[in-house]
Amino acid sequence: RDETIPTIRFPDGTEVPALGQGTWNMGENRNEARREVESLRAGIDLGMTLIDTAEMYAEGGAEKIVGEAIRDRRDDVFLVSKVYPWNASRKGTIEACENSLLRMGTDRIDLYLLHWRGNHPLAETVEAFEELKASGKIGAWGVSNFDTDDMEELLAVPSGANVAANQVLYNLARRGIEFDLLPWCQQRNIPVMAYSPIEQGRILHNPELIRIAKANQATPAQVALAFLLERDGVIVIPKTANAARAVENRDAVSLDITDEDWAALDAAFPPPARKKPLEML
Ligand code: NDP
Repeated sequence: RDETIPTIRFPDGTEVPALGQGTWNMGENRNEARREVESLRAGIDLGMTLIDTAEMYAEGGAEKIVGEAIRDRRDDVFLVSKVYPWNASRKGTIEACENSLLRMGTDRIDLYLLHWRGNHPLAETVEAFEELKASGKIGAWGVSNFDTDDMEELLAVPSGANVAANQVLYNLARRGIEFDLLPWCQQRNIPVMAYSPIEQGRILHNPELIRIAKANQATPAQVALAFLLERDGVIVIPKTANAARAVENRDAVSLDITDEDWAALDAAFPPPARKKPLEML
């Protein structure tokens, strides 16, 4: 069994672990803050050094939790945050980024994403992203919840081809992107970040997933994560505020699932036979 976390290479050469940590719902409740910080720190210790957050999460509260978790170890972490679509104007993007930096107590976001498409022209958002990159406030930029046609449109705007990632809903129960968007990104070396990788816990009760997990001395969450880690160019970002689950999720990298069990997973969670519009949560 291989225990090391596989890595993914961004277009600019930066390497990150294929298994990171999400933060949606963190920072909502003061009483949970310590657990959330501890869980993120445990995850970093385990090598899950890519942390995904957004100005949206708890309206800045999650970014403050992240800031606390990385205070003394900023350089060990690859930080991802996102701008609200309604802030993604030329000026608004810069301001939103600066506010995120303040909340996280850092001077750099490694990857800054447009959270989903809104009304501001893509060209304006990209211009702002490029300016942030030039000033060193972000390392790279990308998008989230972009379907294939959105990606095509993005590549057509000036500097649009600098897109470094697309973060989308992807898990066993949501395999639609395998039909077109995933291969489209893979062919262009644009990493896909799989969000809600365990479908926010909803797939963990699936009897077939439970059976396959048992057969592999693993948990359903680990099998769901291993399924995504098996794909080329996919970064997986489970969220947990529970340090023991961080260990469990981390250990998904050492699963060695047989061809027979992969086939059983395909039967229980069929891949798409035709184009489906991108789903989002
Ligand atoms: P996940 O699929 O990561 O599931 C998180 C839920 O599962 C939490 O309730 C967590 O509870 C629980 N959980 C985590 N690990 C385990 C485990 N091993 N066993 C059982 N339960 C577990 O859902 P998210 O929606 O949070 O997605 C992950 C991240 O992706 C987000 O946090 C966010 O960073 C990003 N995201 C991005 C979106 C976008 O539009 N770009 C949209 C949605 C998510 P507990 O914390 O109590 O362990």
